[in-house]
Amino acid sequence: MNRVLNFSAGPSMLPVEVLEKAAKEMLNCNGSGMSVMEMSHRSSSYEQIQEEAKNTFKELMGLDDEYEILFLQGGGHTQFAMIPLNLLAENEKADYLVTGSWAKKAYEEAKRYADVKVLASSSDKNFSYIQEIVEDEIRKDVKFLYVCTNNTIYGTRIRPETIEKINVPIVADMSSNILSEEYDMKKFDLIFAGAQKNIGPSGVTLVAMKKNLAGNAQAITPTMLNYQTHLEKDSMYNTPPCYNIYISGLVAQWVKENGGVKEMEKRNKEKAKLIYDFIDNSKLFQNPIEPKDRSLMNVVFVTGNKDLDAQFVKEAKAKGFENLKGHRSIGGMRASIYNAMPKEGVERLVEFMKEFEIANR
Ligand SMILES: *Cc1c(COP(=O)(O)O)cnc(C)c1O
Repeated sequence: MNRVLNFSAGPSMLPVEVLEKAAKEMLNCNGSGMSVMEMSHRSSSYEQIQEEAKNTFKELMGLDDEYEILFLQGGGHTQFAMIPLNLLAENEKADYLVTGSWAKKAYEEAKRYADVKVLASSSDKNFSYIQEIVEDEIRKDVKFLYVCTNNTIYGTRIRPETIEKINVPIVADMSSNILSEEYDMKKFDLIFAGAQKNIGPSGVTLVAMKKNLAGNAQAITPTMLNYQTHLEKDSMYNTPPCYNIYISGLVAQWVKENGGVKEMEKRNKEKAKLIYDFIDNSKLFQNPIEPKDRSLMNVVFVTGNKDLDAQFVKEAKAKGFENLKGHRSIGGMRASIYNAMPKEGVERLVEFMKEFEIANR
């Protein structure tokens, strides 16, 4: 069977070269005579795999030894609790920029453990834009400003230029746009990303944090939710998700071999432009997002007619375009075009959208 074009928001498509390499190494990885799934996490074969993955991610993000990369479990959702538990005492403050459902969830969770406040929310316009960040409105003694750099559901993103202008420490959820364009990563105290959007399979969450932030967790913090636990043991306190880390490492290697984040950005901007330009000139499809705040990774669109949207998703699927249905909370359509989606895939989607428009206008 031919592979479909998979526009899923996550878990999402992986580079074919990565899948082929993994297939080749399935029965015998690096002369070990076994698959990575069967290796002891304490074996030198495996330790080397994890170390290499860590170093490649660190290099791609341009981070020095002030930072450490952790591979954790529990998804992005667990970070919503780990961040306040580890970085804030009960009476300490952080402000949250609520640009969508994920940031809102992170805020709701943090509220249970510390003094957090919503700096601004774009819920007034259904999260279709990114609010301007007014520095004076950030509380003076905050430990950090929390942001979500790409809103997977609503299709918005906080641009690198916006991040560069902020002068307080930043904690960022980069689950759906890590390694997709160049941010000055040293502006962040901590970033995290569930792997299943842009860097690997679900089951592992990458955290990049300033090392000196660990060691101050609240007393109630469970051992497994304490960054210090994982920092001290190099993400091997307990059995790590070895296979997921291995695949994520192969994806990082793939990004590196393809020109790094700079080249990913170039490709992603070309892909996003193709589809946004088409939508902006279309008489059938619309994108509700403020143009400057549009995501490069998740392109949302509607026809304005629910039945026609459903028909589009159905016909697209029959032609091999999978997972174009929008998030269940907002409906419509969404094309997730992460690093692994080739330009040709987007070109074919736009071609199909043209045909659909002609047939249904
Ligand atoms: C998917 C997603 C999450 C949730 O991740 P899980 O790994 O499912 O917990 C959090 N934040 C963003 C931006 C996401 O896209």
